Amino acid sequence: MADERSVDVDERKDPEPPAGSRRAPVGVGKLTPLQQAYSRYVNHRLGCDTCQDVDAGRCAAAEGLLRAWKLLGDRACEQMRRGA
Ligand SMILES: [Zn+2]
Repeated sequence: MADERSVDVDERKDPEPPAGSRRAPVGVGKLTPLQQAYSRYVNHRLGCDTCQDVDAGRCAAAEGLLRAWKLLGDRACEQMRRGA
């Protein structure tokens, strides 16, 4: 497995909602872009034979989805750092 190390750091990085904030209803339609990207990745892995195979690891599609998700996460952090 090539770059397993570089991509496999903390898989769950979704920021927890601050305590006391209104709870988003469970279900679809209220996900942030970041959560949508993550759920796309998870859904892919659940339905993908290659991703289900522990020895095979992630397929190219999963790598792409994971990268897209991490990119969104980085961007969100960047925006928070800028006070957006
Ligand atoms: Zn896959």
